[in-house]
Amino acid sequence: MRSDFLPFSKPSISEAEIAAVAEVLRSGWITTGPNCTAFEEAFQTYCQAAGAVALSSATAGMHIALKALNIGPGDEIITPSLTWVSTVNLITLAGATPIFADIDKDTLMISADTVKPLINEHTKLIIPVHFAGAALDLEPLRQLAAVNNIPLLEDAAHAAGSEYKGTKIGASGTTIFSFHPIKNMTCGEGGMFCSDDGRFLDRIRRLKFHGLGVDAYDRNVQGRVPQAEVLEPGYKYNLTDIAAVIGRGQLARLDGFIEKRTRLAERYLELLAEVDEISPLKQPEYSMRHAWHLFIIRLKNAKTAADRQNFMAALKERNIGTGLHFKAVHEQKFYRESLKLKPGLLPATAWNSERICSLPLFPDMNLGDVDDVVDAIKEVLV
Ligand SMILES: *Cc1c(COP(=O)(O)O)cnc(C)c1O
Repeated sequence: MRSDFLPFSKPSISEAEIAAVAEVLRSGWITTGPNCTAFEEAFQTYCQAAGAVALSSATAGMHIALKALNIGPGDEIITPSLTWVSTVNLITLAGATPIFADIDKDTLMISADTVKPLINEHTKLIIPVHFAGAALDLEPLRQLAAVNNIPLLEDAAHAAGSEYKGTKIGASGTTIFSFHPIKNMTCGEGGMFCSDDGRFLDRIRRLKFHGLGVDAYDRNVQGRVPQAEVLEPGYKYNLTDIAAVIGRGQLARLDGFIEKRTRLAERYLELLAEVDEISPLKQPEYSMRHAWHLFIIRLKNAKTAADRQNFMAALKERNIGTGLHFKAVHEQKFYRESLKLKPGLLPATAWNSERICSLPLFPDMNLGDVDDVVDAIKEVLV
């Protein structure tokens, strides 16, 4: 058994990033400023996006995106249930109704096939999730959205650096990334909104900062417009320069992170192929670059979520950390009681929600750590 605890995720922060933060702190400008602008430009270039707006979190971006799309009571928004709770919470807080599309049992992603039957005259938006670092099958989803004249907002919290058919996620359409510490790159907390719709971008830029036409850096340093006015009531979701300078450093290392994650994931796949009880996710068949945000397995023979709980606890006793991404949203207390969905409505979601488990995967791990995890799994499963 290993002597030290292996967490399931850990950010990789370099000395250069630490020094860059110190420099920002000494510079006299610590909130939204030149580092945010440089981070937005670098991220836009990396993704080949038409435009990018830095935000305090992906959740913040999702909030103001719903606002910009005038989502409200009576509206239905199609999204998966096997996702992080933030999107469904925001839909609910906006007074709209989340409509859950079931996922593919082995990629955990919704598709044009599962979304199509749910579209009706109340459907105002589709929010699919690029899951675990894999890319959604965007072409059929985009076509379905276009035919029905419904916007598509991609949750790309797991997909910084992912590619679909040779193109970076974020290069087209409207996409929201997260830089929470467990994601593929981090800046403490932060997010990025990318869109090829210039008016949507302008609206996000305005809503993220009090509804002002320009932000404090524009006013005080760039001196563009001396008196910015409130054009509409807005929020306070700007990123600080302290965070942005970390994001700049992380973005420069993102491809290296993904290469490392890929090597670790390949080792897991090779070793776990011999473990009958464990079913890793399958990789989609269309061409894509997997960013390997998470390495998710399913306990095929688990009969209840308690079996999975015991498995995770037994690994913890052996100094192996695990994560759970995610417990289905419709199975959580508030949504169970308010939505009262018919049992059996989302079979692939429910099956996975009870059996998934995320194994340790982060760039500073080594192949020996993967061996430790698989050894511990074999011990626990006998
Ligand atoms: C992390 C995550 C979010 C939220 O990102 P924040 O930056 O923490 O707000 C949204 N969706 C998914 C699928 C996530 O994993």
